[in-house]
Amino acid sequence: MTKPNVTEIKPLEKKVSKEEVESFVNANIVPLERKEVDGQEVITKSACVDGRTEPENSKGRVRMFGGDAGILLSFAATLNEKEIDIENDSIITALVNTKKEIAGPDAKLCLHTDGHGEKDGSIGCGHANRMSSSREDFNGDGKYGLTWNSAKDLFEKAWEKVEAEHVVLQGDHEELAVLLVHGGENGQRADFSVYSLDKENGKSFFVIDVEATGEYFKTIVPRMSEKLGVGLSVEDVLSNYYKQLDISAGLLAGHLEKYDVYIESAEKARVEKAS
Ligand SMILES: [Zn+2]
Repeated sequence: MTKPNVTEIKPLEKKVSKEEVESFVNANIVPLERKEVDGQEVITKSACVDGRTEPENSKGRVRMFGGDAGILLSFAATLNEKEIDIENDSIITALVNTKKEIAGPDAKLCLHTDGHGEKDGSIGCGHANRMSSSREDFNGDGKYGLTWNSAKDLFEKAWEKVEAEHVVLQGDHEELAVLLVHGGENGQRADFSVYSLDKENGKSFFVIDVEATGEYFKTIVPRMSEKLGVGLSVEDVLSNYYKQLDISAGLLAGHLEKYDVYIESAEKARVEKAS
């Protein structure tokens, strides 16, 4: 068994100021796209939090760890936890069919690799990469809630699907900080996200949509669960997603500062240093 290669992330010397973060955010606010499904306006597409994701591959999408791989991997971990045995192929098919149901027959799984992965055959999505690694300091003994080889099989099978996007991110990780984007206060609907890469000045940030991710899971998980007849709750799958997110965030962005971003309008956001 070969170990998947990993894209090393080197801590940057440079620190950003709150003012720099604020000016980046205000120039890069993007509305979340919604589609009416069963009388509700839902988000139908995701993209990874990876800062290298270009605006054309993230416009209107909810930013979550792994994009749709994040759903597959947390869904599989939840099945594991409940000791329900379902083939990876079936989990992927359930997500593909759910996406077709909500976004139309041309809907695709939102997945990515990177230039390094393309070259050496490793998985270039950092979240899926760490989860697919036998290294003890990554998944190793199954700290993500599923074994590293099961995570690897799941990602690779999803990637091979006809209904999968093959987005390849270029360059090295140069994210300046982590942005935790909130969808309006007082339980309002999330209307905006932030582009992670500003091509004009080359700056990039990890972008995590906090409330909008929960909403995306609420749309996807019950439909997948029904198709598989497994009765998983949104809360259970989300809690595994957060558990996996915490590990990956530590491994990929533990060296970076975090900022809470509260978007007030299409041009204006409030930024606060997160604790
Ligand atoms: Zn990724």
